[in-house]
Amino acid sequence: LIYKTILIGNSANIVAQAEELNGFIKEQLRGADISGGTIAFYSKNEIKNELMRLVPTESVKLVRVARYQPDNILAALQTVEQAEKTHLYLFPSGAAGSELAVRWAYRKKGSSLVQVKQIEYSETQFIAKKTVYANHALGGFRLSQKPYCISLAKGAVSRYAISTRKELIVTEHDLTDLQTDRYIKYSEWIPTEPAPDLEDAAFIIIGGRGMHNKDNTRNLEKMADAMGADFGVSRPVALSAWAPMHRMIGVSGAMIQPEVCITAGVSGAAAFYAGIEKSKTIIAINMDARAPIMKAADVAVTDDYQAVMAVLTRIVQN
Ligand SMILES: Cc1cc2nc3c(=O)[nH]c(=O)nc-3n(C[C@H](O)[C@H](O)[C@H](O)COP(=O)(O)OP(=O)(O)OC[C@H]3O[C@@H](n4cnc5c(N)ncnc54)[C@H](O)[C@@H]3O)c2cc1C
Repeated sequence: LIYKTILIGNSANIVAQAEELNGFIKEQLRGADISGGTIAFYSKNEIKNELMRLVPTESVKLVRVARYQPDNILAALQTVEQAEKTHLYLFPSGAAGSELAVRWAYRKKGSSLVQVKQIEYSETQFIAKKTVYANHALGGFRLSQKPYCISLAKGAVSRYAISTRKELIVTEHDLTDLQTDRYIKYSEWIPTEPAPDLEDAAFIIIGGRGMHNKDNTRNLEKMADAMGADFGVSRPVALSAWAPMHRMIGVSGAMIQPEVCITAGVSGAAAFYAGIEKSKTIIAINMDARAPIMKAADVAVTDDYQAVMAVLTRIVQN
């Protein structure tokens, strides 16, 4: 098996990328019949030396591109890998690695799978495994066409620091002229709101479909903020885009175990309840006394959640 790891040196998390790929090689790619190399992309000359220190294999193609754009990277890959017999391409975890894995497989008429945790391979088949059903099961997928192009799952393996090498075989390519992204007139990275780790929340308020709209959802989030609580939502709320997906609680989202969990306008369906059942105290506010959450909760308040939350916010703030 001949593999290539891909390092995207234009990104800020290059050390994490390299150590993750190194960990994957150490844990999953052992054997006499395996050989590999790295293709490392970068734009700024200043990072070249650091990049070389982070190469997880004994040989590297250092490829300079004008700027990070998937189209530039794919065109550069095509140039440096034209005559290569690579069976497996390993892309780093994260959105950029996954996008490149899928698009590269399409160009090479190979197969791809993203967020891979483990692989199993023999002469006749290649199986890649990833978690499915909201991390509750590990699914095996047989990739049928070479080259196999996979991106790693975040935290799939332990990170391994790169040891200093006596010798690194380096081939350099300057492909700064090869710009296939000229249709892009202007681009800018806009950092997104960092996703809160709701699984660590000690006090959380969760809004359900009973909030009825996006404005009410925002208001409940503000109330949670004012009380020093984290804010989560049920699935219909996230699917209606009243709140981002990373706030979803339940088997499809975060499984939480806070000291105090307040649900507002949530019915308590099994798929939701499984996500909160480890909470120390559950307080449910629902207009319908017969909603399943009302039986399961430690404290059940039958009322309009807005009225109850308004009073609660006043009490907590005073
Ligand atoms: C495979 C699968 C996975 C799923 N995973 C998840 C998951 O991870 N998380 C999840 O949440 N769901 C999940 N679901 C969906 C789940 O089955 C329910 O449909 C969902 O949890 C219902 O959300 P809800 O309680 O917000 O809405 P509803 O069931 O519609 O309940 C709304 C509640 O609000 C009450 N209400 C209305 N107005 C007010 C008011 N003014 N004040 C107080 N109460 C009010 C109503 O009485 C009602 O009980 C999954 C389903 C499937 C099939």
